[in-house]
Amino acid sequence: MSEEQGPLPGLEVRDLTKHFGGVQAVRGVGFAVQAGECVALIGPNGAGKSTTFACIAGQQAPSAGQVLWQGELLNALLPAQRLRRGIARTFQVAQTFEALTVLQNVQLVLPGVSVLSPLQVLDPQAQQLARDLLARVGLQEQAALDARSLPYGAKKRLELAMALAGLEPQTGVRRPGLLLLDEPAAGLAPSERAALMHLVRSLTHDASAKAQLAVLYTEHNMDAVFGVADRVLVLMEGRIAASGTAEAVAANEMVRSHYLGRAFHHRPGVHHA
Ligand code: ADP
Ligand code: MG
Repeated sequence: MSEEQGPLPGLEVRDLTKHFGGVQAVRGVGFAVQAGECVALIGPNGAGKSTTFACIAGQQAPSAGQVLWQGELLNALLPAQRLRRGIARTFQVAQTFEALTVLQNVQLVLPGVSVLSPLQVLDPQAQQLARDLLARVGLQEQAALDARSLPYGAKKRLELAMALAGLEPQTGVRRPGLLLLDEPAAGLAPSERAALMHLVRSLTHDASAKAQLAVLYTEHNMDAVFGVADRVLVLMEGRIAASGTAEAVAANEMVRSHYLGRAFHHRPGVHHA
C-alpha cells in the first residue's frame, strides 16, 4: 500500500479479496481514507466497486483481507454494528420507504427511534434534527410528501439524508463517520448530477459541517470526479490500477487505453458550476 497513514486511522482496507464462486470480483485491494477526505472509487461496470463497498459496510463477507475503521477490525461485524461505529452507506439504486413521508424516512433512521413504530411521536429535538438533515440535502420543502411521489433525483438526496441520519450520535459526543455512496448521481440528468456531486463534495469540505466525515463514493463516469474528489482510486478487474488526483488518473496511459478511451478530455466548467 502506498497511502500515507495519519495518526488517527480512518478506513483501512488491506488486501481485500472477494470471490463469488469462480468470479473474482475483488482481488487484493488496499487503500486508506482519512476523515475529511472525499475519495472516488471509479472503474468500468463489473470492476468490483459495489462489492468493495459491500465488504466495507458489511453486506458481504470478504473471502480474504481486512477492513478496519479507526484501528478496529470490522470483518466479523454486521452492517448495523458497523453503522453504530460510524459507517453508513447508500445503494446504487436508491432505497427509501415509499409509503412514508420524506421526513418520516429520515426520522426512521435516527438512532434511538424504534424500527417497529416509525410513526411514534418524536421529541421536538429529533424532529428538528430530521428537518435540518433534509435542509442539508435541499429537501426541506418536500418534508411532508410521500417518498413515492419524489422524482428520482430527490430520492437520491433523501437517501443521502438517511445515511447522514444514521451517523447522528445517540447521545453526546459526535464521532468521525464514514459515508459510502454507491453511484450517488446514477440515473440523474447532467444538470442534476453536477448539483448532487457538489452536495457530496460539501459533506467533507463545508466549513459549517458539524461532523468529521470521510466520504468514499463510486462512479463509472469521470465527470463526477473533477472538482469533487480529493483523490481517485481506479478499480479495474478487481484491482487498483491507478490512484491520484482526477487530473493524474485521467492522464494515466493505462487508464486511458483500457477505460476512459484515448480521446477522453475533461472540459472544465461543463459539469461543475
Ligand atoms: P461494479 O460495482 O464495479 O459494477 P460489482 O462489484 O457489482 O462491480 O461486480 C463485480 C463482479 O462481481 C461482477 O462480475 C459481478 O457480476 C460479480 N458479482 C457482484 N455481486 C455478485 C453476487 N452477489 N453474486 C455473484 N456475482 C456477483
Ligand atoms: Mg456497482
